[in-house]
Amino acid sequence: MKTTYTSKQYPNSSSNISFLTEEVNECPLCKKAIKPVCLNMFHLERTSPYLMHGHFLCTSCQRSFVADYKVHLDKNEYVSSGPTNIGPISYREESFDDNVKAMSPQFAKIYNQALAAETYNLDEIAGLGYRKSLEFLVKDFAIHTHPSESDKIKSMTLSQCITKYINSTNIATLATRSAWIGNDEAHYIRKQESRDVQDMKKFIKATVYFISMILITEDAESIEPVK
Ligand SMILES: [Zn+2]
Repeated sequence: MKTTYTSKQYPNSSSNISFLTEEVNECPLCKKAIKPVCLNMFHLERTSPYLMHGHFLCTSCQRSFVADYKVHLDKNEYVSSGPTNIGPISYREESFDDNVKAMSPQFAKIYNQALAAETYNLDEIAGLGYRKSLEFLVKDFAIHTHPSESDKIKSMTLSQCITKYINSTNIATLATRSAWIGNDEAHYIRKQESRDVQDMKKFIKATVYFISMILITEDAESIEPVK
């Protein structure tokens, strides 16, 4: 949604500029979809491109944030393609099922560190983190189903582990594809050019879902009939 803001020149507010721009539609702090209230908008110099600095209030979490805009004149109208910078950014941890956390505490920890890196735009290392979290998830699940082979599983490559110990076709397919994308994050040359970290995250979450369903089923199976 586009909207018009009026920016005052600081410190002399006599020279105002109204510009059209895309509205911020997600609060950087609570991540909710919002229509923020603009508390103040100002610029320092009246030279193109104009740099506008906005102070906004999120109506959902009641906290304030800032957004900067680069504005230029287009056919007698001041326009901006949207904020060039929004902050502060706050990271919200992903929560996983208790069964999964108990089976692989390291997975949840590493996944959330990768998510924190991604939130702070450290995209080059976020992918590596997600790849590492996948390795812990799959290996811990293999150890869960084959506890006597724990040492062997720990020293295997992830793809060997998937081939030898993961019987579920869904989990094997998802984990293999996530690993392919994840390996690209660690190497100089990218093989899966059409896939990125967002695909890997989607596949890892689906892997978590299927593992979680198996763990819940195991729990149900442990109930003995009462005679
Ligand atoms: Zn908010």
